[in-house]
Amino acid sequence: MAEKTEQRVAVVTGASRGIGEAIAHALAEQGRHVVCVARNAEKLEATAKSIRDAGGPGGASVKTCDMSDADAITELIESVAKEHGRLDILVNNAGITRDNLLLRMSDEEFDDVIQTNLRGVFVACRAALRPMMRGKWGRVINLGSVSGIVGNAGQANYAAAKAALAGFTKSLGKEMAAKNITANVVAPGFIQTDMTDVLPQPIKDAAQKAIPLSRFGQPREIAAAVAFLASEDAGYVSGQVLAVDGGMTMC
Ligand code: NAP
Repeated sequence: MAEKTEQRVAVVTGASRGIGEAIAHALAEQGRHVVCVARNAEKLEATAKSIRDAGGPGGASVKTCDMSDADAITELIESVAKEHGRLDILVNNAGITRDNLLLRMSDEEFDDVIQTNLRGVFVACRAALRPMMRGKWGRVINLGSVSGIVGNAGQANYAAAKAALAGFTKSLGKEMAAKNITANVVAPGFIQTDMTDVLPQPIKDAAQKAIPLSRFGQPREIAAAVAFLASEDAGYVSGQVLAVDGGMTMC
């Protein structure tokens, strides 16, 4: 086992609900200070309070940011690094869907998804690398999707952004390996959150049939994978895309 180190600071985007909220809890349980990020301040405060109430040793704080706004993202990351004197872990979890069949997909639906799910991740990583390099340690975990691995009808925009994250993350991992910074993707399958709750029942039923484990996953099952990749013990894992999908993408 790796030795215990000083308290590390983690930024988790999209921490106000669903998978991001579970990730924030899991990192807090590891003793990290977790900066919870999303647009809705009230919901973020609820996440941070529940971490503190659960006795998260590193505590939690809140910052609102729209992950489609490049200037706001850069300001967010720089302010975290300044306030805490460090930034060790970045989990790019915030994501949106604008589903439509390709023949009907508007430019706006395509661009919105690329802006938040891909460009936002690029801007956040670029800003976070400097404090990670200063600390000579870093963990970047980007949330992909099985849609980015096998595609999904109605999600050409989302699948393109999530697939691009794999190449982006591997490139980051190669550039930053010498600086002791790792970068990985966790690619969830169908997970029970607000994002999947809105799917029509026939689509949910078809999805469930395609899952070898015959059930949707829970946010904590994604959080466990992210927490491992963010841990001291995962220091030799980089450039990987870890599908956590009930076996959907197994060959
Ligand atoms: P969710 O329940 O819809 O939650 C999305 C989170 O992202 C919320 O905290 C939301 O907070 C935040 N967010 C959305 N747009 C944002 C923006 N522009 N700026 C800042 N924060 C923003 O989603 P989820 O199901 O937990 O999914 C989390 C991640 O896993 C996403 O990247 C998603 O693509 C990926 N994923 C999910 C599934 C699944 O089955 N659920 C499957 C594969 C991949 P605010 O609205 O307050 O900003």
